[in-house]
Order: sequence, then C-alpha cells, then structure tokens
Amino acid sequence: MTADSTVTTATAPGAEYADTASAAYRSILQIIESVEPRIAAATRKELADQRDSLKLIASENYASPAALLTMGSWLSDKYAEGTIGHRFYAGCQNVDTVETVAAEHARELFGAPYAYVQPHSGIDANLVAYWAILATRVEAPGLSEAGVKNVNDLSEAQWEELRGKLGNQRLMGMSLDAGGHLTHGFRPNISGKMFHQRSYGTDPKTELLDYDALAAAAREFKPLILVGGYSAYPRRVNFAKLREIADEVGATLMVDMAHFAGLVAGKVFTGDEDPVPHAHVTTTTTHKSLRGPRGGLVLATAEYSDAVDKGCPMVLGGPLSHVMAAKAVALAEARQPAFQAYAQRVADNAKALADGFLKRGARLVTGGTDNHIVLLDVTSFGVTGRQAESALLDSGVVTNRNSIPADPNGAWYTSGIRLGTPALTTRGFGADDFDRVAELIVDVLSNTTPEGTSKAKYKLADGTAERVHAAAAELLDANPLYPGLSL
Ligand code: PLP
Repeated sequence: MTADSTVTTATAPGAEYADTASAAYRSILQIIESVEPRIAAATRKELADQRDSLKLIASENYASPAALLTMGSWLSDKYAEGTIGHRFYAGCQNVDTVETVAAEHARELFGAPYAYVQPHSGIDANLVAYWAILATRVEAPGLSEAGVKNVNDLSEAQWEELRGKLGNQRLMGMSLDAGGHLTHGFRPNISGKMFHQRSYGTDPKTELLDYDALAAAAREFKPLILVGGYSAYPRRVNFAKLREIADEVGATLMVDMAHFAGLVAGKVFTGDEDPVPHAHVTTTTTHKSLRGPRGGLVLATAEYSDAVDKGCPMVLGGPLSHVMAAKAVALAEARQPAFQAYAQRVADNAKALADGFLKRGARLVTGGTDNHIVLLDVTSFGVTGRQAESALLDSGVVTNRNSIPADPNGAWYTSGIRLGTPALTTRGFGADDFDRVAELIVDVLSNTTPEGTSKAKYKLADGTAERVHAAAAELLDANPLYPGLSL
C-alpha cells in the first residue's frame, strides 16, 4: 500500500467482517465439495488466480463479500415476472421488498426519478431502454391513432403497419473505433438489426469527441434515439451538450453509463458530466466501476418510467431476485462516503497510470485520460494489440486489446490496449503503484517483437516474463485482494 492508507483501508470492501466472511465461505465450499468437488476447486482456484494477477481490465472489479454472499440464497428459487406489487405469480411479497429496496437505493444514489433494477446485464438494460423508448414514441402514438389502448385490439393489418414502424427507426451512437459499444446499434448485436444506425466519431487530430460534428450529423440523420456512453473512450462527456443536440433534432437521449457509473455514483462526474439529470433514460451495468454483482439497471424520467417498468415480460425473463438483492447491498455500499473516496482514487490512479506512460514516451489515445480508462497505442512498440495483450498476459498483466481510432490493424488484431483502474484501486493501489504498473507494461512491450509478418505471433525477450511477474507479485502482495479472507 502506498500513501494514504486510511482511505485504502476504508475502501477495501469487507475488510471489517473478513473473519465472518471467511467462516461463511469455508462452510459454503465444504457443502459444494460434498456435491461436486470440481466446482468447489474451480471456485477456490478463481480466487487464487484473481489474487495473483494484475487485473487491468477496465470493465472488471471486485464486488464486496457482502454483495457476493447475498447472491447465494433461496431468493433465486422464486419466479416473480412483472413488477413490484403487480406480478404474474403469487407469493412475491419478499421479492417485492428486495426490488423496492434496490430501486430505492438506485434512485437515491443517482438522484433519478425512477429506477428499474431487473435487467440481468448491460445488454438487457439497453434492450429494455430501447423498447421503452419505442413503446413510448412509436407504439403509444400508433395505438392512439388507431383508437385502441392495447396491441391486442389492433387488426392484423394495423398490427403489421405498427410492426413496420417499430422496425424502421433511427439510432445514433458512438463509433466502435472511437470507443462505442456493440449494443449502440452495431450489426453483430440485435440493436443493429433493430435500427438504422449512424455513428458519430471523434476528431481525427485530437481524438476527442467533436460536438459540432455530432450535432451536424444528428441534424442530417434525425435519429429517434441519440445514445451517449462508451466502452473505451478515455475522456469525460458533456451530457448537457448531448441533451441540447437531442432536443434540437427531436431525439430521445439515452446514456449508457455502464463503464463510468461508479464515477457518477462517487460524485467524480457532476454537473454536465453526470448523465442522469440530462438523459431521458440512463442505463448501466452494476458490476464494473460500480463494484456490485453482475447485472444491469435502468434509470428514467417520469415520461419513460411506465414503459421501462414493463421490461419484464417485454424483453426480460423472470427477475433474478437473488441478484436484485445483491444490487441493493452494493448500491447501499456505494451510498457510503468511502465509495466517493474510492471513485476519486479510481480517477486519480488513471491519471497516474497515464502520466507513467507519457513520461516513458508511450502514446495514449487522446493524449491522456480524465476518467478510469487509459487507451495505449501500441504501434510505437512495433506490435499489434493482440501481440501486446498476449505478451502482457505471459508476464502476469491482464488487459484487453482494443481498437484505436482509424485502427490500421482492424477490430480483431487492433493497435491498442485498454487499461482500467477500478479493480486494482479496490485492492488499494495508489498513484505510485500505478506508475510502477506503467513501467512494467513498457518493459514488456519494449521486449516484445513480432514473429515474421504475423499479427498474432510474437517473441518475448528471455527473462522478461519472470522479471515482470516478480515485480507484479510485490505490488499484489502489498495490496491484497479481500484482506483477511481465508478459505
Ligand atoms: N454497455 C457498455 C458501454 C459496455 O461496456 C458493456 C460491456 O462491456 C455493456 C453495455 C454490456 O454489459 P453486459 O456484459 O453486462 O451485458
């Protein structure tokens, strides 16, 4: 642990009840072992592997033992299709409590008028949002035009006409090579099959979001939905500006804050950088920087809340009540002051990591970061993203390759490495540790050479993997994952 160990201790999730959690996990693993030992072994091994790796995957984190343990209960056994107080099954009183508490925490944490906590993942949250917007802006006017209240009251011909309209709408989101996500209207995802999509990119010189170009493209394309949010853009976004553009062209602004929800929750992004007051609908995952269980949620204004509330059965299967319970626990944690300190450290650490690269001569997309992501251009090391990712993994550094704007190596091999600070910050890493991480990554990449013309094969200079592994182990030992938790 480096400077400021008070904050570090306060942010290590579950350190204060580590003994109780250890006893709980020992019992749980003993029970699993008696039924299927291979699963108990894989579960133990996963903790050991996570403890031993320098995890820089920007979309991953370590949820607290409280949130993790909450998922292992009989709440999983209950079917509860529908919504709070309005279920298609009897006996949902306790699920109602769980969903009510989770939604209340989400509303309070993000200052949103309405929260829907059922989505099983980020993709599901986006699907709920898209269909809620389509239901509000296309289906409802279609029904009223036909003079009916329910889709079942439409004639076959009227229904076909409405289906045609629902499937003929426009969506605009950030391009993949600028850092957008597949669920923002790209063909391999269902969203690309549902919508006519046009993407906005970044300025070719600065690699920053160009709001004027975005506005001009939106004026021309006139999307029904303007999507904000990203997976690999290392900068903050001005959501007030996006809302202005959306209003001007009559679009609904939907922001997917899956990646940076923790920075919103932790009040690092406020004002124009906080999407919730500006977007009509905001979606997120709960497991990335927000540090909860794997899942999603949707926040909405009153205008869209009724439609979002019909997410199940519109696009979702029965809610995962045990996961909603864990979301409630994680959201309660995120409302604590310690989470704000954590979120600030995530951003500060990303800056330290970026500075560590810049001072060693590496090039970063956009020249730096002001969120939790650093996007390293590996072309100056003479390797592809794929080669860099593999060489780093050999050395105990877990990252993922990522396209950079106008990527010369395409979406498979890529020319970038995406790095994120949420997970290692949870372990207690500070600015000095991240500077050392930058040094280790530069060491690996400087010692990696492509084999022939291959974009995948590479050679790592002798001794590099061992040297970096040993240095990483020192950092990891000084910042233990789940301190005090012993199986
Ligand atoms: N939206 C964004 C911006 C993401 O980065 C991701 C995941 O990487 C998702 C949605 C999808 O989340 P999930 O994997 O939970 O479906």
